[in-house]
Order: sequence, then structure tokens, then C-alpha cells
Amino acid sequence: MANALPVVYKACAACKHQRRRCDANCELAKYFPAEKADDFEDVYHLYGMQNTLKILKSVDEEERDKTIESLIMEAKMRLEYPVHGHFSVARKLSIEIDKAEKELEFVRRQIQLFRGSDNRAGPSTRREGQPDQP
Ligand SMILES: [Zn+2]
Repeated sequence: MANALPVVYKACAACKHQRRRCDANCELAKYFPAEKADDFEDVYHLYGMQNTLKILKSVDEEERDKTIESLIMEAKMRLEYPVHGHFSVARKLSIEIDKAEKELEFVRRQIQLFRGSDNRAGPSTRREGQPDQP
């Protein structure tokens, strides 16, 4: 008889939540260790256990870490923005980018305008409608 010690697994957040025994075959233990109970709760409330497993199985092994990160991020965004989730943030950022691009264009035109009026080398050879060369 071998003197093997039984391997004791600390229940992952998913198994702890489901009140089941967590073992080496647990599919979620790798992604939701006991310390990530809050992350699991968020994902569980948004997707549910079966959908989370279904999503996880639908992607290749090497993409599963990123998939879980995405699920966690989306779940957290849904808590903050219940109606549109991360789309709210993406839309807000898109509006800010548009605003910044318009402001940049305005500043570029101002620079062109000042460069054009600061031309002391004599009469301008530039014709109307042609952009300045930098
Ligand atoms: Zn588990």
C-alpha cells in the first residue's frame, strides 16, 4: 500500500458557488480560482453557468483565457451600464475621437492660416484653394 497523500483541491469560485466538489476535471477552476469569486459572480449573473461553459467550449484552448477575460469585462460593463454594456463606453470614446479629430483639423487650418499670413518673402505665389505645403 502506497503512502500517498490525498490531493486536496481548493474549490474554485464556480464550484463554491454551485456548492459542488471541485476536482482536477473542473473546467472552470483554471479561470475562476477561489480568489476570483467576484468575477465569477458577475459572469454567472450575466451569462449563467451553462452559457459560460458553452462559450468556453466553443473556442480553441489557446483562446480561452482571453475569452474569459472578455466575459468578465462584459459582465462588469453590464453592471455599470445595464442597457448597452461595453457599447456605451465604445460609443462615448468614438464621440470623443470624432471631437478630437475635428479640433485637430481646426488647429491645422489655423496653423496654415498663420503660416500663410506670416509670409514676408514677398507676394504669395500661392493661388486660392491650394493647400500650403508644410
Ligand atoms: Zn471547480
